[in-house]
Amino acid sequence: MKTLYFPVTQKKQSEWPEQPICPICGQNPVFDPHSMAVINAGALLVDSRSNSGGPSNRLEGFLDLTWHGAHTNEGGKGVAPDTYATVSVAKDILGGQTSLHFCSIKCLRSFLNAAVDELEAKVKQGLHGV
Ligand SMILES: [Zn+2]
Repeated sequence: MKTLYFPVTQKKQSEWPEQPICPICGQNPVFDPHSMAVINAGALLVDSRSNSGGPSNRLEGFLDLTWHGAHTNEGGKGVAPDTYATVSVAKDILGGQTSLHFCSIKCLRSFLNAAVDELEAKVKQGLHGV
């Protein structure tokens, strides 16, 4: 698998990958008319009068994986306390919506595992006295 650099989408680049090849295996095509697994994230700016919604330049989208450790000074309990870490998968997406494409469930899983591995590494870096 290629090295991933997070965030994979930001600002005007809301679609990933930019080229129609799976960003994980680098072997198979993605986008129509090919098969693909997709992570769609975002929001709709809804017009209550028409009861419809869509992307809007009034929205900035994001997708984060976050570790929020317990607050020990408040009696909180849990692993990796007093540690905060985040992996920004998508950041400041103009319009509020982002789509990440993969050729297969296997490549989707690899991507999610890589993102979780990144979060785990950040949590471990943030641990004090461990
Ligand atoms: Zn693939």
